[in-house]
Amino acid sequence: MSNLLTGARGEVYGPRETHLTDTFTVLRALPQRRRRLVGAWCFLDLYRADDEGPAGALDLLPHPHIGLQTVTWLFSGEVRHRDSLGNDVRIRPGELNIMTAGSGIAHAETSIPHGVLHGLQFWIALPDRQRGKAPAFEHHAQLPVVDLGGATARVIVGDMRGAASPATVYSALVGAEIAASTGGAISVPLEPAFEYAVLSVDGAVTVDGLGSDGVGLIYVGAGREVMKLQMQADARAFLIGGVPLNEPVLLWWNFVARSTAEMLAAREEWQGGGRFGRVSGFGDRRIDAPPLTMTLRP
Ligand code: MN
Repeated sequence: MSNLLTGARGEVYGPRETHLTDTFTVLRALPQRRRRLVGAWCFLDLYRADDEGPAGALDLLPHPHIGLQTVTWLFSGEVRHRDSLGNDVRIRPGELNIMTAGSGIAHAETSIPHGVLHGLQFWIALPDRQRGKAPAFEHHAQLPVVDLGGATARVIVGDMRGAASPATVYSALVGAEIAASTGGAISVPLEPAFEYAVLSVDGAVTVDGLGSDGVGLIYVGAGREVMKLQMQADARAFLIGGVPLNEPVLLWWNFVARSTAEMLAAREEWQGGGRFGRVSGFGDRRIDAPPLTMTLRP
């Protein structure tokens, strides 16, 4: 479990263990009850298959998504992504895979059993104007790196200090892995209009004395031009930020939507085979939607 060093101000959130399948547990850092969004970032899972269970146990059969982008970023291990557009891609460490669900896509995520699976999956909520667009998938092996002195930032989406990721996104945001070499006090350039959070992944990471020596999400807020990140040598963190998405976003199962009625319609279409299409290679095997019997509130 994470060992939180909470201070008198700010927000530090421990992740919760969540069963993704019967055999695969993740650490979920977002959403939190008191912090649903950071910019348009609405969901964050950490995969780490080295503590318990066999490495390579990620086995997510075909399932649908709407209204979001998924960002998969691995530190070790490999995942095979197959989707209803016909993409069949190996997701490797240091390479970005970003899937835009838009109006609807189905995909399967299965780990390839060599090495420990360690990585992150984020969801980015699409703004209301963009969420009905056609689904798409992008793979980017070349991503810019920014030298922060004592650490480097690899810019996965958005940009930092003019170093821009080639990935397509639909709101002003940034996501960057920050890997310490010598560590120390690392100055990270920020955009004052963005709100930010830092996920500590490995080693001790603090912001303004707030932090975690395990996995934890440190909410940084908005209005700053620079952030001082204190990092132990070889520590690893992930920065997320963006313009606050002032829209009432609902999350249920694999869907991001705006109303319960919309969730029910998407659920019925998945159960009935509808708009999502098929992921080839699985026959009739797929993940059924759970029942949705309540009214969802943002
Ligand atoms: Mn998925």
